[in-house]
Amino acid sequence: MLKAERDYYYPALLVFFHKKLKIKYNSLIQEQWCGYCQPNCPEEIDIPMVINAELMWKLWPKETLLDWYKGKVESAQNCVECGECEEACPYNLPIREMLVAGIDFLKTRMG
Ligand code: SF4
Repeated sequence: MLKAERDYYYPALLVFFHKKLKIKYNSLIQEQWCGYCQPNCPEEIDIPMVINAELMWKLWPKETLLDWYKGKVESAQNCVECGECEEACPYNLPIREMLVAGIDFLKTRMG
């Protein structure tokens, strides 16, 4: 491939994939970040933030995330398994399982 071709195609490809990723992540965020579960949690756990931890790790700088997640893992571990969040979820997400997965993910990343 000629340099002129590479200079033209590579940025165009990057823009294309960036748009694709953004569309993919936006749909994931819409599904899991509606926040309907939040007001129902008796432990006031930041549910969307914890269940989306892995996605957040892909999208945001680690320094920012370490700050955001301070205390959230501890708080999420106070889950009493009441299921109120799942009752309120319009997408029927297995939030309690997702919460445990989010906590495990964060523990491995935060040390
Ligand atoms: S199951 Fe856990 S996360 Fe869901 S509402 Fe109850 S305490 Fe909150």
